[in-house]
Amino acid sequence: MEIKKNNYFWQEKNLQQLTGDEWESLCDGCARCCLHKLEDEDTGEIFFTRLACRLLDIPSCRCTRYAKRCELVEGCLDLRVGFSQFHWLPSTCAYRLLAEGKALPQWHPLVCGDTQAMHAAGIGIGSFAIAESPSLDPSDFVVEWLV
Ligand code: SF4
Repeated sequence: MEIKKNNYFWQEKNLQQLTGDEWESLCDGCARCCLHKLEDEDTGEIFFTRLACRLLDIPSCRCTRYAKRCELVEGCLDLRVGFSQFHWLPSTCAYRLLAEGKALPQWHPLVCGDTQAMHAAGIGIGSFAIAESPSLDPSDFVVEWLV
């Protein structure tokens, strides 16, 4: 993937106008979206848990079957198709930030040029996530983000 340095395309286009490479480059690789979530039926509030999707390689925060993820995992969403679904993403996610008219954070790889800055800022889930299991109740593993 080739993205020109100092090309702040995300400030000049809306999400629907991005090329495929531009879209993919917005993902910081935190894998927070790969954690199981709970939704309060009354308020709609979303709660993240430490339980990660079975397809996620937790230490690297990478999906092991990215191209086929939506076929393999019920409920996995292609964000480019589900444009109205940003509300359940973490508040740090570039897609949600841009959908809400906000700026990307300083640790974002496209802003600082360092793919590790996101981890240094405590955004990645590799240090605390655990693999999902039928024996684990997600409500026992709710997390609160520090950032
Ligand atoms: S939460 Fe957003 S930035 Fe983080 S991995 Fe998921 S799509 Fe990418």
